[in-house]
Amino acid sequence: MKLIILDRDGVINYDSDQFIKSPEEWKPIPGSLEAIARLNQADYRVVVATNQSGVARGLFDMPTLNAIHDKMHKACALVGARIEAVFFCPHGPEADCPCRKPRHGMLEEIASRYNVSLAGVPAIGDSLRDLEAAVKIGAQPILVLTGKGTQTQAKGGLPEGTLVYPDLAAAVAALI
Ligand SMILES: [Mg+2]
Ligand SMILES: [Zn+2]
Repeated sequence: MKLIILDRDGVINYDSDQFIKSPEEWKPIPGSLEAIARLNQADYRVVVATNQSGVARGLFDMPTLNAIHDKMHKACALVGARIEAVFFCPHGPEADCPCRKPRHGMLEEIASRYNVSLAGVPAIGDSLRDLEAAVKIGAQPILVLTGKGTQTQAKGGLPEGTLVYPDLAAAVAALI
């Protein structure tokens, strides 16, 4: 079974420092949904793992987060793409939860849900914490330069073995 883990904001959709607080604010990065469709066609099961501390911060509630993901799933369906599951951490940084990246609780959850090892599984993100979480569970960290990616690359200190691509479409093209 081929599995791939994607961060959401800055990888699939445009990121915002003001958070994505409504379905209206969720806008796909050009080519990202088609890239997910290509993954599906190559027999990848696509799963999202995303920090959504805006919930804990009171910027949006769970029904709104669900509505945002509903929009994402519908936009995917329009291009024949399918995201199987969205794992999210709703907690704030001070909650000290095991799920908020750079911790790898969400990835452990994915491993146990699918009953697979995540060793070598591609994990694509735009922030250092995405890459750090990936490394902790033995996944292959991949940085894309969309979202905060350029900033992340400029800061340096990427985990050893991190692959870097301009965007999700390029990462997927290299992968399949
Ligand atoms: Mg991100
Ligand atoms: Zn959490």
